[in-house]
Amino acid sequence: MLASEIHYPDTVQELVEQLRRRPDSAIYAGGTEILRRQSETYARLPREVLCVSGMAELRQVVLTERFVEIGAAVTLAEILELRESAVPELLGLALRAVGNPAVRNLATIGGNLATTSRFMDSWPALACLDAMIELRDADGARWINVNRLASPDGSPDFPRGNLLTRIRLPLVGWDFVAFRKVGVKDYPARESAAFAFATRADKGILSEFRLAFAGEAALRMRDIEGMIVGRRLPLEAKQVAAFAEEYRAAAQILAPRQRLQFGTLVDGALDLLTR
Ligand SMILES: Cc1cc2nc3c(=O)[nH]c(=O)nc-3n(C[C@H](O)[C@H](O)[C@H](O)COP(=O)(O)OP(=O)(O)OC[C@H]3O[C@@H](n4cnc5c(N)ncnc54)[C@H](O)[C@@H]3O)c2cc1C
Repeated sequence: MLASEIHYPDTVQELVEQLRRRPDSAIYAGGTEILRRQSETYARLPREVLCVSGMAELRQVVLTERFVEIGAAVTLAEILELRESAVPELLGLALRAVGNPAVRNLATIGGNLATTSRFMDSWPALACLDAMIELRDADGARWINVNRLASPDGSPDFPRGNLLTRIRLPLVGWDFVAFRKVGVKDYPARESAAFAFATRADKGILSEFRLAFAGEAALRMRDIEGMIVGRRLPLEAKQVAAFAEEYRAAAQILAPRQRLQFGTLVDGALDLLTR
């Protein structure tokens, strides 16, 4: 009979060392995604499992005036319980849309970002917020922008053999944020995806415009955002039509049905800039 060895490392250093010695080990946080596709009576787990949900180093939240840093093993419910000023509104909207309260009590932010079969709901919100994540492996620690978890063709690209330790979010104000799910809303399915959007203007000039979409593939087009920011509001219908066309061209990497949904959401977001 195949048995699993479940390890409970006390420290990040210990975990990284175990990952180095046994690169096929699975990191297990809340387990909601790992077990989601299993309907048998007994759970099937990989041969070696490294459990991170109780690791103190991964369960800390640090709040400063400029950013909040959230440990990878903090659950979605715990993030939603933090004081309002510590959680960017866009992230709060995304986390409230995940599954149901029971799932959010177990599911961690690290597990939501590190899933490699598809993008989960926090990615578009964190991508719009330009969140940074810390990754650790035997070679040390490095910070990368969360946008780099999407490869150029839009597929998930979480680096194998790395531990996600924390997520750093800048605490800046936005004039308008929105988060929408399409397809099956409370369960990740092939046709489900999430859309996030944030804008800010200063003295009538659009200073930030960020828009991200992710399901099986992810899309955040910084080059198109660069064409839009810096313009005086409201935009003219002709300008908006040109930007919508750019987004439609970029959306070719999405499945046909999602292309349509994405197009409608982009039209809605751009329309706000004409008022
Ligand atoms: C009924 C149900 C409904 C759901 N609905 C939604 C939904 O609406 N939206 C949504 O986004 N998700 C949904 N999910 C999926 C899942 O709950 C979330 O994605 C959750 O955030 C995963 O976190 P976890 O801690 O449970 O991850 P786990 O299942 O423990 O791990 C998921 C993956 O991440 C890896 N991992 C975990 N932590 C780390 C880390 N620190 N470093 C590196 N790798 C790590 C694991 O090895 C694994 O590959 C649902 C699940 C269920 C069961």
